[in-house]
Amino acid sequence: TEFYGLNFEVNNSVLIPRPETEELVDWIIKENKVKNEINILDIGTGSGCIAIALAKNLKNVSVFALDISNNALDVAKKNAANNEVDIEFIEHDILNLGLEIKDLKFDIIVSNPPYVRKLEKDLMHDNVLKHEPHLALFVDDENALLFYNTIAEFSKKHLSKNGHLYFEINENLGESSKALLENKNFKQVELRKDINQKYRMLKGVRHE
Ligand code: GLN
Repeated sequence: TEFYGLNFEVNNSVLIPRPETEELVDWIIKENKVKNEINILDIGTGSGCIAIALAKNLKNVSVFALDISNNALDVAKKNAANNEVDIEFIEHDILNLGLEIKDLKFDIIVSNPPYVRKLEKDLMHDNVLKHEPHLALFVDDENALLFYNTIAEFSKKHLSKNGHLYFEINENLGESSKALLENKNFKQVELRKDINQKYRMLKGVRHE
């Protein structure tokens, strides 16, 4: 498939990159174009589409990409090689992070984590449900922002001063996702809609 003008191979270990996610990548690229020598971390990289598009379009960046799934990382590594970018891949569960990246600081952390509630399953297309990894899609109804909470806490420790955190979000959870970042003291919190007028993207900046 194609994402942000680049070719990606996919299989049933990863989600097919979505156009909404291109909008998130576009936001990050436009906002960070003039910076260089920055570290970027993509959490839950899947096919690698976000990490690879950023590595390809931003100058002098070191890109790290993490995923729980070894099979997804195999796909992402192949995509990075095919697109001729250098990315450091890390196999890990963000919900149970060990010491591996304890001392690393990032200027940008980005994630498109699982955010579909099981109650929303009925609204999904059969091709998604049958062929895409549920591990990458679903969260429990009563803890829908689990990944956002964990990644925001992680980001408080691992973002450099004025570092940016970007998320793709569940369209039905725009306000609560925004409130989560504000409550954790992120600044310049901004919610954006996608081309279909659905809340889809969120940003916060770490000031302290
Ligand atoms: N937007 C995807 C879908 O509708 C879900 C992506 C995700 O859970 N991060 O299938």
